[in-house]
Amino acid sequence: MLLEIDNLTLRYGRIEALHGISITVGEGEIVALIGANGAGKTTTMRAVSGLRPVATGTVRFAGEDITNLRADLRVIRGICQSPEGRGIFPGMTVLENLDMGAYTRRDTAGIAADLDRVFGLFPRLAERRKQAGGTLSGGEQQMLAVGRALMARPKLLLLDEPSMGLAPMVIQQIFEIITEINQQGTTILLVEQNAQQALSRAHRAYVLETGKIVQEGTGQELLTDSRVRDAYLGVA
Ligand code: ATP
Repeated sequence: MLLEIDNLTLRYGRIEALHGISITVGEGEIVALIGANGAGKTTTMRAVSGLRPVATGTVRFAGEDITNLRADLRVIRGICQSPEGRGIFPGMTVLENLDMGAYTRRDTAGIAADLDRVFGLFPRLAERRKQAGGTLSGGEQQMLAVGRALMARPKLLLLDEPSMGLAPMVIQQIFEIITEINQQGTTILLVEQNAQQALSRAHRAYVLETGKIVQEGTGQELLTDSRVRDAYLGVA
C-alpha cells in the first residue's frame, strides 16, 4: 500500500473529529472519501498532508511511518495537496502559480517537462499563462490548483472537493482530467461531496459519517448500494 491510515483519531481542542478511522490507498488507485458536511473528510486530508497533528493512530506512506513528519517534508516525499477552496495566489500569474508548485525541486529539465504536461492537460492554462490567477474563472482556478499540485510531481495527489462551486459541465471536465492524471501514473486520494462523480471515477471508496468509516467498497459497489444511494446520490 502506498498510504496506510490506521486507527486514526484527531481532535480540535476537546472535540474529537475523527474516531479511529482506517483507510488504505494502493499504488495507482483513485480512492474517494465521501460524506456529508462536517463528516471529517477535510480533517482526514489534513492528517495525511500533515497540517494537523493526530491524537492517536498512524499514517504510513510508502512503508514508512510519517505520523509525526512535518508537512513540508511530506511534500518532498511525494504527498501533495490541492486544497479545498482552491488556494491559488490571485496576484501572481498562472505561470508563477505553477512555478510555486515546483518550489521543492531543482531538476530544471523535469520541471519544464511537467509544465508541458500540465499545459497539455489544461490547454486553458497555457492560453492564460500570463494572466493573474485571480482573474480566472472558478473552473480555471480549480484547474490551476490541480496543476500547481502536479508541479510537485507527487506520488500521491490529495484532492479536496475539486468540484466545489463549479458548473456541471466544468465538473465533468475536472473529473475527466482527474482520471487522465491517474492513468498517467499518479495515485489519488479524493474528497468529494459530489458522490456520483467521485464513485464513478474511483477504484475504491469509503463513506465517512461523523468521524467514522461506515462503509467501504469499490466505486461501482457503492454506486449501486441502497444506503449510499439514499443518503448521497439523491435517488430513491
Ligand atoms: P466539509 O465538506 O464541510 O469541509 P468535512 O467532512 O470535510 O466537511 P471537516 O471539515 O473535516 O468535515 O470537519 C469535521 C468536524 O471537525 C466538524 O464537526 C467540524 O466542525 C470540526 N472542525 C473542522 N475544522 C475545525 C477547526 N479548525 N476547529 C474546530 N473544529 C473543526
